[in-house]
Amino acid sequence: MKTIDDLGDLRGRRVLVRADLNVPLDDDGEITDDGRIRASVPTISTLADRGARVVVCSHLGRPKGVDPNVSLRQVADRLGERLNRPVAFATDVVGDSARSTVDGLGDGAVAVLENLRFEPGETSKDDAERGAFADRLAGLTERYVGDGFGAVHRKHASVYDVPARLPHAAGYLIQAELRVLRQLTEDPARPYVVVLGGAKVSDKLGVIVNLLTTTDRILIGGGMMFTFLAAQGHEIGKSLLEADQLDTVRGYLTEATERGVDLVLPVDTVAATEFDAGAPHDIYPVDKIPADRIGLDIGPATAERFEQALRDARTVFWNGPMGVFELPPYAAGTRRVAEALTKVDGLTVIGGGDSAAAIRALGFDEDQFGHISTGGGASLEYLEGKTLPGLAALDD
Ligand code: ADP
Ligand code: MG
Repeated sequence: MKTIDDLGDLRGRRVLVRADLNVPLDDDGEITDDGRIRASVPTISTLADRGARVVVCSHLGRPKGVDPNVSLRQVADRLGERLNRPVAFATDVVGDSARSTVDGLGDGAVAVLENLRFEPGETSKDDAERGAFADRLAGLTERYVGDGFGAVHRKHASVYDVPARLPHAAGYLIQAELRVLRQLTEDPARPYVVVLGGAKVSDKLGVIVNLLTTTDRILIGGGMMFTFLAAQGHEIGKSLLEADQLDTVRGYLTEATERGVDLVLPVDTVAATEFDAGAPHDIYPVDKIPADRIGLDIGPATAERFEQALRDARTVFWNGPMGVFELPPYAAGTRRVAEALTKVDGLTVIGGGDSAAAIRALGFDEDQFGHISTGGGASLEYLEGKTLPGLAALDD
């Protein structure tokens, strides 16, 4: 994989950077965590320092067409603050504004294009439609730097098709992320423990097959715990359930036993009458969850088990909060697991937009952990052993 240094003298060159500036926004559209913006800074500032005319592109949210609620303008402003330099903004992706903004860049200047997903060609499954958009995007610049790690598992125009059209290289963020993922997949120090949680259950179940062959212990919390508990025959009330995954999950339980992998499931949960911070909530053992309750966090006995299971770990990968940490009554499980990670004598990696946001929101310092990945889906797919389109495209 080529690096920025392999791109030669960049002074005066127009360089497209595919960053991942897809930051979480609150209900008022304010940025709640700018970790991904900060993670994009080293590549962009290095290119600018070398005199390149830097054109940054990213997606934000999942709009279907133009949607002012997810304009990248405020993200461009925040990037400017983090870079400590002015950042120009194009009000379209590949239209007149993009052209004139790029044409107006001096050496060492930076511009951000509007949200890639305003263009249907970006995510199109049709190769020709995606290719036509990629032609226009590539046509704005002369070089391509892939640095949007959080999007490398997507076969999107800006990730997959544009690098095929321009001399390309991987940016520092992608390189840093890969270095850590290789440590996890190539001979990790043992015990190697993986903690899984969060809400995107079916997205994440796939990784377990692979983890069963590589890890020593898997701890299951968050929304996905209830599909496991249901698979064991427990009543889970109104908690998150992926009914069509029950057989798959039963298969995992059997395979874990056969392979001698310790699959640690919750023994208790904090369950509320509804998905609300103010709702009445109590701790229940997993075999006594009332039918009218919704489980929103692991309980204290589970947190203690998880702490124990992490104590002797030498490698830990964690993806997905243990509960609905955004609401204070359901944040304790996530906090205790994060705390346990800070005490691990070994490599700790946190992956996932919400997981990373959670540890920051709960007041932890980033340097209490070995690595905080900007890409949950991407790191999981890497650990699953899949080929990631955005890495394959840079790999030649
Ligand atoms: P990541 O972005 O780290 O990969 P996900 O996007 O899969 O994580 O999940 C994060 C979300 O999961 C959080 O917003 C959190 O509120 C939610 N969550 C955690 N536990 C539960 C639960 N028991 N029920 C519903 N949602 C949950
Ligand atoms: Mg998420």
